[in-house]
Amino acid sequence: MAGKDRYAVFGCPIKHSKSPRIHQLFAEQTQQSLEYTAQEVPAERFRESVTGFFSRGGKGLNCTLPLKELAWAFADLTTKRAELSRAVNTLVIQDDDRILGDNTDGCGLITDLKVNHGISLKNSRILILGAGGACRGILAPILENSPHHLILANRTRQRASDLAAEFCILGDIEACDFADLKGQQFDLIINATSASLNDQLPPLADDLLAREGVCYDLAYGNKPTSFVRWGMDNNAKKSLDGLGMLVEQAAEAFFLWRGIRPQTKPVIDVLHSARRFVSGV
Ligand code: NDP
Repeated sequence: MAGKDRYAVFGCPIKHSKSPRIHQLFAEQTQQSLEYTAQEVPAERFRESVTGFFSRGGKGLNCTLPLKELAWAFADLTTKRAELSRAVNTLVIQDDDRILGDNTDGCGLITDLKVNHGISLKNSRILILGAGGACRGILAPILENSPHHLILANRTRQRASDLAAEFCILGDIEACDFADLKGQQFDLIINATSASLNDQLPPLADDLLAREGVCYDLAYGNKPTSFVRWGMDNNAKKSLDGLGMLVEQAAEAFFLWRGIRPQTKPVIDVLHSARRFVSGV
């Protein structure tokens, strides 16, 4: 009898990854026979680890910090959204043994915002904090949703300016640093900095969020992140963390690998109940 199809997530650190649990739940729900493991792979062992995984019959990989740019460079061919983000979080082996690289992060965020939380981006004033890899991955899908305008604010202003210059062909986008935000208001503020991971916050004025505005932190944890708490303190209509995005990007990867789209809500509910608080309420 043939063994189970094998998938994995590579990253460093990887111990706390929720991806094995998410994919196990997807597999049970869709009755797919597969195994999905988490493997600690530092950047310097990326190439040999990926090559070894696929040569031993592995079907697909997720790549997380700090490997997404390496995965983009490694893939034999890439999707348009991976090219735009210059990062790959999903590798798929093709019938001809070439490795396809895709990036499902941006699509995961948009699905969580629009489908799971009913948040419309069209004509919204949107602020993104941060200009790192995650920001790059979400810019194109956000601009495709026709916001009124999009501002990128980053501690290192030049990084935001570089991204704005690169993505301005897709829509109205401007760069600034945090101090320049004074007096402006936004309907949606997305925290794409990694500050929350250290329980820190970028310096944000109290009047930055418009009435009925929404906050979304790409980071997530077992308690509300510092930015989710900032949103709550500033009367956000919703103040959400990135757990839903994580599940949605995983569902998109699962679809690429298995051709079946799992239902995400039951899985999000399981992960929410495991951490005993529901973000956004
Ligand atoms: P990067 O290291 O590429 O970028 C980090 C960004 O955060 C930079 O813009 C950096 O500014 C900024 N930053 C870091 N610390 C601070 C601080 N104390 N104050 C202000 N700005 C700060 O990280 P990523 O872009 O890969 O990840 C960003 C976040 O997104 C992480 O929390 C990550 O966990 C999350 N994420 C969530 C996903 C999900 O599925 N929910 C998917 C992908 C990422 P500077 O340029 O000045 O250094």
